[in-house]
Amino acid sequence: MDLSIFDIFKIGIGPSSSHTVGPMKAAYDFVSRVDRISRIENVARVEVDLYGSLALTGRGHGTDRAVLLGLSGENPEEIVAESIDAKVGQIRADKKLALLGRHNITFEEPTHLRFNDKISLPFHPNGMRFAAFSSDGNQILQQAYYSIGGGFIQRENETRGQDSQANRKSGPYVFRSAAELLSIAAKQNLPIWRIVLENEHAWRTPQEVQSGLDRIWNTMNACIDRGLRTEGILPGGLGVRRRAAKLARKLRQESGKDPLIAMDWVNAYAMAVNEENASGGRVVTAPTNGAAGVVPAVGRHYESFVERANHEGIYRYLLTAGAIGMLYKRNASISGAEVGCQGEVGVACSMAAGGLVAAHGGTNDQVEYAAEIGMEHNLGMTCDPIGGLVQIPCIERNAMGAVKAINACRVAMREGGDHKVSLDQVIETMYRTGLDMQSGYKETSLRGLALHTIEC
Ligand code: SF4
Repeated sequence: MDLSIFDIFKIGIGPSSSHTVGPMKAAYDFVSRVDRISRIENVARVEVDLYGSLALTGRGHGTDRAVLLGLSGENPEEIVAESIDAKVGQIRADKKLALLGRHNITFEEPTHLRFNDKISLPFHPNGMRFAAFSSDGNQILQQAYYSIGGGFIQRENETRGQDSQANRKSGPYVFRSAAELLSIAAKQNLPIWRIVLENEHAWRTPQEVQSGLDRIWNTMNACIDRGLRTEGILPGGLGVRRRAAKLARKLRQESGKDPLIAMDWVNAYAMAVNEENASGGRVVTAPTNGAAGVVPAVGRHYESFVERANHEGIYRYLLTAGAIGMLYKRNASISGAEVGCQGEVGVACSMAAGGLVAAHGGTNDQVEYAAEIGMEHNLGMTCDPIGGLVQIPCIERNAMGAVKAINACRVAMREGGDHKVSLDQVIETMYRTGLDMQSGYKETSLRGLALHTIEC
């Protein structure tokens, strides 16, 4: 499998990997290509059309802002989250945008950036089209893109994604399914996390892999810590109050009295991350932004509450969770617009459950079993964010997913790993269930909570 752990865990900004990170990358890819074909200075006008789910919930997810930033030459990994409001505000006030940061054009909304909420492009619900024109009105380049979940993008009529895995040679252990992964691991007599690590070493030096994992884990922790100390109302107009900081304050006072206090902390960690995500802060896709709280919360729980926890356990956790995420990415979908929230929080739960088994030193069979449980009990979960914002039900849902992941790990570790439904079967079931779901339940905010809850 040519996916890397760093494709699954990507540092970016909130609130959405498919609606913010993907469109920013697509806009950046487009202007970079224009610059290669005909220097960016020859562009007089750029037009952008958003379709399907991107048009229906794009405003709440900051898709328009992401496109402005991508056209300006910004990328999600490096942009300073605190600078975004000022940058976007300036573009909108001036009605001028510097393509790739160096060539000013007039850019007005909605003339040059349109939300086509009645039209969907054929390949995926998250479609967008960019076109660049010269001063004599000739089209320099026109290209459709799809944001296919987890910050991955794909150009129309190209079968391979535009992300770094596109041209990567295979690592020593190629696996497409959980069964193949388990079989390779059994033959090599290695834990799953070592299989993933050996593949990573085909693409990066051991030092690069280690520092990359440290960077991911440090970014996750920094996100938790920021969320645990930041209060106020989340942006977007729903008036949702941040709760993680207040909860953490209470828990610090109560510490030691309640036998389930660790679970309260898991809730606080997960909500802290997703409140940061909802406010456009720096997060790690795991496997998406909307589901970014589950993996950090379960990992932090391991570090904080498991007696023999150590940093090597965190490496095992991330590598194993990443392997599980790759299976979903390869064989199903991690896009809420394609398969509902089972593909986001459900996958995150599955990843964290299997990863936690590895952190505890469980067997490969127990990893597979825990990951299967983590998804089995999220099957059918819809994506119906109120007001198109990644806030309700998303923030609490991450807390529920994290607690469920810990429980799945416990169930699997109390048994030998023997079970009826395999991880591959549940992945296939999730995908089929997602395809059967009406589009109103797939990140369109047309049904479910989004329809039956009054916005105020
Ligand atoms: S409901 Fe789930 S899939 Fe939908 S935006 Fe929220 S976290 Fe993402």
